[in-house]
Amino acid sequence: MSDKPILTIALSKGRILEQTLPLLEFANLMPKENVQTTRKLMVDGPEDWAGSKVRFLIIRAADVCTYVEKGAADLGISGRDLLLEYKPHVYEPLDLKIGKCRLCVCGPKDAVEAGDALITGGRIRVATKYDTIAEDYYRKQGVHADVIHLYGSMELAPLVGMADKIVDVVETGNTLKANGLVEEATLFDVSSRLIANPASFVTKKKQVQAVIDQLREAVKNREKVKESE
Ligand code: AMP
Repeated sequence: MSDKPILTIALSKGRILEQTLPLLEFANLMPKENVQTTRKLMVDGPEDWAGSKVRFLIIRAADVCTYVEKGAADLGISGRDLLLEYKPHVYEPLDLKIGKCRLCVCGPKDAVEAGDALITGGRIRVATKYDTIAEDYYRKQGVHADVIHLYGSMELAPLVGMADKIVDVVETGNTLKANGLVEEATLFDVSSRLIANPASFVTKKKQVQAVIDQLREAVKNREKVKESE
């Protein structure tokens, strides 16, 4: 058995993973298996990376904050949208500049263009997975948001009359358009962040700092390549 410390990194499944892997590759921090196809939830990485054995957890994006906050992972990659919704107690040392999109309030095209806010008796029905962000946004305007929590495809809710608005991430806007919706307000820009457990920041300082430094170089390199394209 190796007595090297283990450095655990939580990666999120789905569209961000594809953009994360080239950054990990640049940092020589690759999982030993194809994490896009394996059904394993824990995958080995390099045996000796900055004096640590690395392992990866492959989990849902919304769970990355939890694993890192609880210390089950030392580091993780999470969207800014989820960090602002769940407000986990983690450090956020690096913007990876991937998974870029924006969090928006969107509504039916006709109503938004006619300036109809769809507020009835100071209330509005909002479909979202960002309950806290949506409630805060409307509270600041003196409106009560009746949040309908959904796990995906929010765009459907106004179409079937279940919600007046949605609060969701938008990248190209194609999904909105295909469903007769438009952006009414942009709440903030989103990208994926490297997050770290505060205790790991102290107890595995050397390794955590090495990951930050290497990924910072990977991000710089990616930006340079993009500029030259
Ligand atoms: P789009 O049609 O490109 O605007 O993409 C919109 C759909 O993709 C929505 O249903 C969003 O929930 C999802 N989406 C867009 N960007 C992201 C992202 N960076 N991370 C996760 N989901 C996203």
